[in-house]
Amino acid sequence: MVPLALAGVAVALVWLAPGLLARQRRLRPAPRAALVAWQAVSLGGVLAALSVAPAVLPLLLGGDDLRSHPWLVALALLVTVVVLGRLLLSGHRVGTRIRQARTEHRELVDILGEHDRDGLVVLQHPTPTAYCIPGRGSRVVLTRGVLDALPDDQLAAVVAHERAHLRARHDLLLEFFTVLHESVPPGLRSRTAMAEVRLLVEALADRAAVRRSGAVATARALVAVAEGRAPEVAMAASTSAPVRLHLLALGSQPLTASLAYALAVVAVALPLALLGLAWA
Ligand SMILES: [Zn+2]
Repeated sequence: MVPLALAGVAVALVWLAPGLLARQRRLRPAPRAALVAWQAVSLGGVLAALSVAPAVLPLLLGGDDLRSHPWLVALALLVTVVVLGRLLLSGHRVGTRIRQARTEHRELVDILGEHDRDGLVVLQHPTPTAYCIPGRGSRVVLTRGVLDALPDDQLAAVVAHERAHLRARHDLLLEFFTVLHESVPPGLRSRTAMAEVRLLVEALADRAAVRRSGAVATARALVAVAEGRAPEVAMAASTSAPVRLHLLALGSQPLTASLAYALAVVAVALPLALLGLAWA
């Protein structure tokens, strides 16, 4: 019963896999590959949900099978409608909320801050904090505290980290996962999934900082801004500093990356294989 299997795969990949993936800490030393695996698992889930109706079609054309399992087909279609419906609703809610909060925060920063010639905005605040406001008219925001506390190479690491977020549009990646996360029924939501994705995104931006200023300056800068707090809508440099320091020390792990990419391929291939089976 392929449509039912696809509906099951959709529920498993969209609603259950994030919680399981969040526990796979061994993927952390390969943040880029791990994020590809996270995206592939989610994409595989959406693909599976979208494939249920096309997988029912051969049964409709064949006739016999459908008459013998009408409730299974109805159940598969219902699961798909619920998964896709929740995804669309969550996408609308999350998108509206994030864009509104970000616009308001950007306006506030523009009123309070001083625009530097390098495209940085400086806030007169003693706590060493750095963050970026992504989206249209993106900003890298630094406090006076971080400018005063950090030597040039560490400051360059902090700015490289924030610019890596903006360049790679990590905000869109996080928005995508937030949409998926909030589409999951509250009882099934994994508390750790979003934190894990955020950590991977931070670890990825840390790599950009290391390429700019080296591992030692990046690690020192991380510790220096670890106390700072950034607004919820921004992407801060300060979260989860101890784990990120550990990941910096580990360096790149090609075997871990290969495992994560293999997982990504399986997650996308599974729904496609099932759809192929329905039409075979
Ligand atoms: Zn960051």
